[in-house]
Amino acid sequence: MKPAAFDYRAPASLEEALAILDANAGGAKLLAGGQSLVPVLNFRLASPSLLIDLNRIAALAGIREQPDGSLVVGAMTRNRALETSAAVRRANPLLHAAMPHIAHAQIRNRGTIGGSLAHADPAAELPAVCLACDARLSLASPVGERTLAARDFFTGFFSTALKANEILTRIHFPPWPAARRAGFLEFSRRHGDFALAGVALALDIDAAGRCGDARIALFGAEDVPKRD
Ligand SMILES: Cc1cc2nc3c(=O)[nH]c(=O)nc-3n(C[C@H](O)[C@H](O)[C@H](O)COP(=O)(O)OP(=O)(O)OC[C@H]3O[C@@H](n4cnc5c(N)ncnc54)[C@H](O)[C@@H]3O)c2cc1C
Repeated sequence: MKPAAFDYRAPASLEEALAILDANAGGAKLLAGGQSLVPVLNFRLASPSLLIDLNRIAALAGIREQPDGSLVVGAMTRNRALETSAAVRRANPLLHAAMPHIAHAQIRNRGTIGGSLAHADPAAELPAVCLACDARLSLASPVGERTLAARDFFTGFFSTALKANEILTRIHFPPWPAARRAGFLEFSRRHGDFALAGVALALDIDAAGRCGDARIALFGAEDVPKRD
């Protein structure tokens, strides 16, 4: 099938995108990598009157390692950029371990971290990684910016706390302590398929080799990723 007719805008700045979204809130959809949205449009599961393409907004993409070891990742950062980033490998071993499990290389070349989080598929890897890492998400609207903890962002099946006039702009991953260990495991029928279920784990080991805090996030298990 083909999508229903829609108008198309490709703003060059976040401010412009927010103004267009605010003026069309409810009828517009944001386009990031299009790897989930385009199939949704083609199946006519959604028929927005307007697509707002975020791909020309350079300020929304990029991976910045901060002096304290934390990572700030722009929402339009491609999954493949995260997968191949030396900064991600160094600063967040769990995020690095999860990336190759997301779909196929061709999809990771286009798909973005912001699109994956906003789409909130319960079987997706990145929401669970964000939960296990206590990531914080920045949401911009015409009246300013608010920051939400990942645990407050995913509200239900394919649902998030994003309001109709908000754009997810950045994801902040706190510093990864030297004694923390990462584990990532998923089960899928074929490599590249969505997982049937999986787990993202961040485990703190003390000086005596004992396990302290264990952050266990499950995906594909319920309608939202779950953190124990
Ligand atoms: C064959 C196939 C296999 C796949 N396998 C997996 C898999 O194993 N694991 C996995 O996690 N994903 C998988 N995906 C999905 C893929 O990772 C998508 O890229 C991702 O879910 C959406 O990212 P996107 O950038 O393409 O977003 P889009 O498809 O452009 O957008 C998705 C949704 O998010 C909204 N959105 C996008 N960006 C923002 C933003 N900055 N602020 C607010 N809302 C925004 C859009 O309006 C839309 O509703 C697969 C996709 C395909 C086609």
